[in-house]
Amino acid sequence: MLPRQLFRLKRSMNETLDPQLESWVPSAQDPATPFPIQNLPYAVFSRTDGDAARRIGVGIGAEILDIRACADAGFFEGEALTAARACSGDTLNPLMALEPRYWRALRHRVSHLLSIAQKHLFSSLESQVFVRQKDVRLHLPVEIHNYTDFYSSIHHAMNVGKLVRPDNPLLPNYKHIPIGYHGRASSVHSGPMTIRRPFGQVKAADQEVPQFVPSRALDYEVEIGVFVGQGNELGRPVTIDRAGDHLFGFCLVNDWSARDIQTWEYQPLGPFLAKSFATTISPWIVTSEALEPFRAPFARSDEDPAPLPYLTSKENSERGVYSIQVETAIRSARMREENIDPYVVSKGSADSMYWTFAQLLTHHTSNGCNLVPGDLLASGTISGVERCSWGSLLEVTRRGQDPLELPSGERRGFLEDGDEVIMRGWCRREGARSIGFGECQGIVAPAVG
Ligand code: CA
Repeated sequence: MLPRQLFRLKRSMNETLDPQLESWVPSAQDPATPFPIQNLPYAVFSRTDGDAARRIGVGIGAEILDIRACADAGFFEGEALTAARACSGDTLNPLMALEPRYWRALRHRVSHLLSIAQKHLFSSLESQVFVRQKDVRLHLPVEIHNYTDFYSSIHHAMNVGKLVRPDNPLLPNYKHIPIGYHGRASSVHSGPMTIRRPFGQVKAADQEVPQFVPSRALDYEVEIGVFVGQGNELGRPVTIDRAGDHLFGFCLVNDWSARDIQTWEYQPLGPFLAKSFATTISPWIVTSEALEPFRAPFARSDEDPAPLPYLTSKENSERGVYSIQVETAIRSARMREENIDPYVVSKGSADSMYWTFAQLLTHHTSNGCNLVPGDLLASGTISGVERCSWGSLLEVTRRGQDPLELPSGERRGFLEDGDEVIMRGWCRREGARSIGFGECQGIVAPAVG
């Protein structure tokens, strides 16, 4: 049997992904919901009406299914029960640390419980196991021990490179090695959040010495993050054919960046305080399994060097790409006052990444470095060829020289205090039910000196 046929067969055997599958939860049947029964993303929530304890839930339509409450009701057995018990704390790390077969067992059981024929099971339990999303606060779903940010969009690398090296924008290593840096895990949070404008050292080209001032070039970067499931032992790299088993699920990432601080500090060791003040992620984690229908072949142009063998596999070539669409919108304080909708600045796609997530994870461990459950690996800014797909203001406004005009008539080179940045993500494909990531949201607050 040809691999493609085998893949279709394997996929058709996964009934949780069947586009015809329906849920008895009415809001999950809304064609516009990001959370139909085919998605089932995880989040950590607490109720806003009294019980503030953090719990793990699965998004379904406009509701959250409380996994611990379902376990208490006796809805799980076998591997699904083991996985559900790993969801009794207030982070997803214990679930992530299990082997993928446990993730799959829990997803399949939850999908079955929410499918149309199973409503009777919930008759007297609905109020105990469901909570409306509008009645909860969502929290950081994972204890993130390590955060690595890559640079895997070649269009972003070209756009940024052109600003500093117009004649030679791409550095010679780019097409051979995934570029990344170690980010700061402690300042990763999930929104909606207030981002305090950072102070930092800034030196303009015509100044002799730097000043310590609030950043005047605050920016966002739209990225996709992947959470590591099982880790690897120190000294034991993950080979590319096993990389998929370590990818638990995905979220949206806003890598807030202070461009003026970055310009002065980044040589020779890369970004530091220009990035470490805040990173926002979307609070829902969309699992790798939910994204199966949206995987696509990974291919390079014939003119580009083929990746080295340790970054090459049949599976990666056939379906290494996760075809996730992202968009970024800005809403200023005045737009909120005047009730103007957020202005969509860009729409991009993970299809344009030069490296796949499997390659990023494999490369990360290739020197023996150990990853641990809940580590966050981010793609780097997602930008495509056209300006309407560029994922940072640095690119869109060419470092502020070509400002953006908002519907309120305000102009933006970089972000102003009160600006809200909203990122959304979704996957759509003919023959599959569309699924979404929810929002990654943050508002810029004035610097405090
Ligand atoms: Ca970044």
